[in-house]
Amino acid sequence: MIWIGLGTNQGDRVGYMVQAVQEIQKYGYHLCQLSSLYETAPWGIEDQPSLLNAVAILEKKEDPLVLLDDLLEIEKEMGRIRVQKWGPRIIDLDIIELQGEKWDHPRLKLPHPFAHTRSLDLAPMAELAPDYCLGKQEKTVQEWLKELPEQSFTLHQDTSWAQAQRTIRNRS
Ligand code: ADP
Ligand code: MG
Repeated sequence: MIWIGLGTNQGDRVGYMVQAVQEIQKYGYHLCQLSSLYETAPWGIEDQPSLLNAVAILEKKEDPLVLLDDLLEIEKEMGRIRVQKWGPRIIDLDIIELQGEKWDHPRLKLPHPFAHTRSLDLAPMAELAPDYCLGKQEKTVQEWLKELPEQSFTLHQDTSWAQAQRTIRNRS
């Protein structure tokens, strides 16, 4: 499976998340599943607004570096400016996992090095595929999630996100 992580903690957070999903599709990528939205505690730097996160599953394998460049380009087009590492962001698009491939490239680490440690990735992944093993590790995403010291996430209900999910469900 190919997993993309989406996150935001600034401005019209739901609006940015919906826009990012649309942009990814405009770039020609087919999403086959989209998780619910989760409100999660800030990560990396604690003194910043909490995050909205979700994950999407891509239908088919893509060239990893092309996919990365496209995601970074979408972030840029949407107005993301990098000020501080792990600081506030209007949109963050990461490749969490690409069919168990292991990458240690200067621009791309796979699976995402922190994914198995953060509820912001694990909670939405566990919703779609609880038994999935990141990077072909022994533990499932559900097990990683249960072992986290803090279960700092809640579902965030929103009608425009539900609409985005329906659109993808109906198409696939
Ligand atoms: P973060 O997501 O950790 O907050 P950024 O979004 O600013 O940080 O990303 C910084 C760099 O991380 C990107 O320019 C990209 O080259 C690199 N990177 C390495 N591995 C990945 C990955 N799996 N997904 C997305 N970016 C990655
Ligand atoms: Mg990123």
